[in-house]
This record gives sequence, C-alpha cells and structure tokens, in this order.
Amino acid sequence: MHKKLFIPGPVEVRPDVLERMSGPMIGHRSSDASALQRRISEKLMKVMFTGNQILLSTTSGSGLMEGAVRCCTGKRAAVFSVGAFGDRWYKMAVSNGVPADRIDSEWGSATTAEMVEQALSTGKYDLITVTHNETSTGVMNPVEDISKVMKKHSEVIWCLDAVSSMGGTKIDVDELGVDVCIASTQKCLGLPPGMAVCSISQKAIDAARQVKNRGTYLDLVELYDYIRNKDYQYPSTPNLSLMYAMDYQLDRILEEGLETRFARHLRMAEKVRGWARGRFALFAKEECLSNTLTTITNTGNTNISQLNKDLGARGYVISNGYGQLKDKTFRIAHMGDVTEAEISELLQEIDSLLQ
Ligand SMILES: *Cc1c(COP(=O)(O)O)cnc(C)c1O
Repeated sequence: MHKKLFIPGPVEVRPDVLERMSGPMIGHRSSDASALQRRISEKLMKVMFTGNQILLSTTSGSGLMEGAVRCCTGKRAAVFSVGAFGDRWYKMAVSNGVPADRIDSEWGSATTAEMVEQALSTGKYDLITVTHNETSTGVMNPVEDISKVMKKHSEVIWCLDAVSSMGGTKIDVDELGVDVCIASTQKCLGLPPGMAVCSISQKAIDAARQVKNRGTYLDLVELYDYIRNKDYQYPSTPNLSLMYAMDYQLDRILEEGLETRFARHLRMAEKVRGWARGRFALFAKEECLSNTLTTITNTGNTNISQLNKDLGARGYVISNGYGQLKDKTFRIAHMGDVTEAEISELLQEIDSLLQ
C-alpha cells in the first residue's frame, strides 16, 4: 500500500506529473533540450519573482548549496545557522577549503537582522548564507528584516537556502536582493527528487569569476556560461525525465496561481499549528513559524516510531524529529500539492491513534 507522504521531502507527486517522466528521451544537445530548459527557467523566474538567470543542476539541493558557497566566496563566508541544514552549509564550506565562520541561533529561534548586521560590520565577510526555512526546527527566518541590512552592505553576496519553502511561500528574490536562491524539486514544488534550481545575480557571477578553484561539476559559472553562450544547454547530461515533469508541474503551479498556492500553504500551516498547540507544543518560537512544515515538541512522550508505524498501516507517514531532535519532536510537512482536506484527514487519524 502506498503511504501518503507528510514528510518534508520527498512529497506526494500527482500521478499526472509522474506520468510526464515516462516521455521518450531527446538528445541533450538538441534544440528541443534547449527549449525545454528555457521554458523551465522562464517559469521559475515567475515562481521566484526574479529577473536573474535560473540555473538547473542534476543534483539535489545540496549540490547547489555546496557550489554556491565554494564558487562565490572570495574572502570569507558568514554562515548563519538555525539548525541542521545551516550546520550542513558550514560543513560544505569548510570541507571545500572555503574560509567560513558559523553564527548560530538557539534551535527554535531565528537568524536576526541584528546578528547579520553585527557580523557584516566587522568587514570580514564577502558572502553570507542564510537558511530561509529550517526543516529540522520548523523556523522560517525573517528575510525581509535581513534584506534591509543586506542593502546597506551591497558588496556582500547573499545565498539563501529556500529548499523547503520555494513554491510554498512568497520569496521575492529581486525585492529582497538575494543573489543566489536555491531550491530542490522534491519539496514545495511537488516534484520527484533529483534536481536543484537556483537564481543567480550578475553580482554573484562576477564575483565567482574571480574565484580560482570553483571545481567543475558544481561550478555555477560553467552552468551559467552554457546557458548564455550555448543557448540554454547544460554542461553534462541533465535529468531530462525530471525536466519533462518540471516543465509540466510549473504550468500547474502557475495555473493554481502563486498567491493562491501560498495562501493554501498558510492555511494548512495554521491548521496544523492549532492542532499541535492543543495537544503538544510548537518547537519554533511563535514569531518565526514555518509556513511549509511544523515541528512539534513531543510534550507527552508519545512513542513517535510506534505512532508512525500505526499511521503507516492506515496509509500515512509523518516525520520523526531531525538528528538531535529525534523523538523529542516530530514533524508534519504541509508542502507541495497536498490539500487542506488531506491535512485534516491526517490529523484525525493521529487523534484517533493518540486516544
Ligand atoms: C531538504 C533540505 C536540504 C537538502 O536538500 P536535498 O535536495 O536533499 O539536497 C537543504 N536545506 C533544507 C532547508 C532542506 O529542507
């Protein structure tokens, strides 16, 4: 029996989207392949509210995170971490030999504008990374506030991990001034895993050209130059099947309407939060709750693995806490194409098991 996924990626994918992946192969050096990547990029520009170039990568989101911090840091990176995925970005910097400092918030709280101001006022950094939506703690960071600080430090490059929020909540890349905004297919975009996408500003590309050792496969400049100089080609062989599905799914997303989609995510978040407050507690602070997933503190010491087993028998699956938060928290994702009715069904099932 298929278990409906309420985990923060991969998410449920609609059957008509999955079907698109069975289309016949085309040559990746053909004009059809160029047209496919161009269509996807143009639609993603709308989803991301940007005029910047879109890059695709046949890696999951982590690939572009690693590529971004390696390619765009000239001097030193300030890595703001509010949980496991911020920590991972720091590890990527260090393991690639990129000078970096990690600036932590207590788990459950946000990266604040003051923290960013304090770090940048030292003049040590030419790049920052911020996690938009921290999937371990359920924190959504205040990017509008951070944006105000970044506008005062216009020489600094801003990389944003929007892996678990892009397509589920409004991230106005150009208004915010984000230089590299990264997402994966398998979260709010409602697609299978296997590709990552990002927008990249001219400023970030110019800075990256000055960096000597950018690697090859994750070199953002290489991806960019193939698009610009070779008519939307990809340096190696991309995941064409997933690109067929992306081309189709992005039409569905735009048909739903971005504002409608974001509002649906918020209503689902409010439903889960309300439910969790009555029975457990929310892990993240009230002022920085995520719109795309909820991390719930396991106040009653419920056996989460058992709960998930029992839910599985009824055809549903949720997530245990991430890493050090395992069993202390559990997570319900409300992202992608899942509906409010499906969220209600899930919550009713959990209630009936908790009794
Ligand atoms: C899932 C996730 C990642 C990792 O993305 P992959 O596509 O699995 O590489 C990074 N950051 C956040 C916030 C995520 O939720």
